[in-house]
Amino acid sequence: MSESEFEIIRRYFMRQSQKREDVITGIGDDAAVLQVPVGQELVVSVDTLVAGVHFPENTPAAAIGHKSLAVNLSDLAAMGATPAWVTLALTMPGNNSTWIDEFSRAFCALADRYRVQLVGGDTTRGPLSVTVQAHGFVAAGTALRRKGAEPGDRIYVTGTLGDAGLALQLRESAPDGLQQKLDYPEPRIEAGHVLTGLASAAIDISDGLLADLGHLLESGDSGASLQVDALPRSDAFLSALRQSGSLQQPPYYELPLSAGDDYELCFTVSGKFCPRVEQLLSAMPCGCTQIGIIEESAGIRCYLEDGTSYRPAGQGYRHFDKAGK
Ligand code: ADP
Ligand code: MG
Repeated sequence: MSESEFEIIRRYFMRQSQKREDVITGIGDDAAVLQVPVGQELVVSVDTLVAGVHFPENTPAAAIGHKSLAVNLSDLAAMGATPAWVTLALTMPGNNSTWIDEFSRAFCALADRYRVQLVGGDTTRGPLSVTVQAHGFVAAGTALRRKGAEPGDRIYVTGTLGDAGLALQLRESAPDGLQQKLDYPEPRIEAGHVLTGLASAAIDISDGLLADLGHLLESGDSGASLQVDALPRSDAFLSALRQSGSLQQPPYYELPLSAGDDYELCFTVSGKFCPRVEQLLSAMPCGCTQIGIIEESAGIRCYLEDGTSYRPAGQGYRHFDKAGK
């Protein structure tokens, strides 16, 4: 590594105020040395964001910095883990210090908020690509999984669905509230944490509700009924649809069902724990909404408020509906 590359790392990636006591050796050596607390299990996740594939080429550096960490923290949230450490492999076409400054400022701000320390990484030249590996802890044996939902369990989601998908569709004309959800998703760490011991299964929604709930159901060999009118939609989402005259039209249903990038949690809860879960999550900014129920027969069946069935057009549906209904 050249002197200038180390200078970049020192200036932009050692700027965090967060210094954890369980980091014995952080950035600057050949590898990080970290201490896992006694009685806890290590939960590890890695994700790569590639320019033009996972985000549009014109995405602001700050949004890329935030989102590259947020999507990993979201995976830890879905496991009920508390994040602790991250590593960052950054490939950049050039040495644009303004870009790196904005990227790392947003990355480190999110890391600081969740007491996560950047403990190492790699910096290389090439087409823009960001790989983040996140490490967190759960008390031994308590990690949430995709597998575990039982017939009769209620299905919930945190926050609202379809915002990021609508922002992607509207592009430049997307209102701020929707663009914010696409560029700066908030990992649902606290929600995941309180769900350990209460939820029977959990997954984060990166590819769309139908696709990701489909993964959860496949893991548990079960099916589900969804109330599509009950899906939580934000005020920004509703007012943007109202403006374009498509309230109650396909986007009203399809975006919350099939659009990705919301990074909310979808989880299942046995009836006896529902009041407790609703009480705990309603005290958080994200809240939660009950959207359906786990059933024995495979596939996802969607219903409107009046009890008639709704047939989703989105790709996620074909992907998992074994029954082919
Ligand atoms: P090596 O050549 O031994 O792999 P590097 O020169 O790649 O080491 O990195 C030097 C130090 O800087 C290491 O501790 C590494 O973890 C850290 N580092 C490199 N790039 C980054 C980055 N983008 N973010 C955080 N730490 C980094
Ligand atoms: Mg290296």
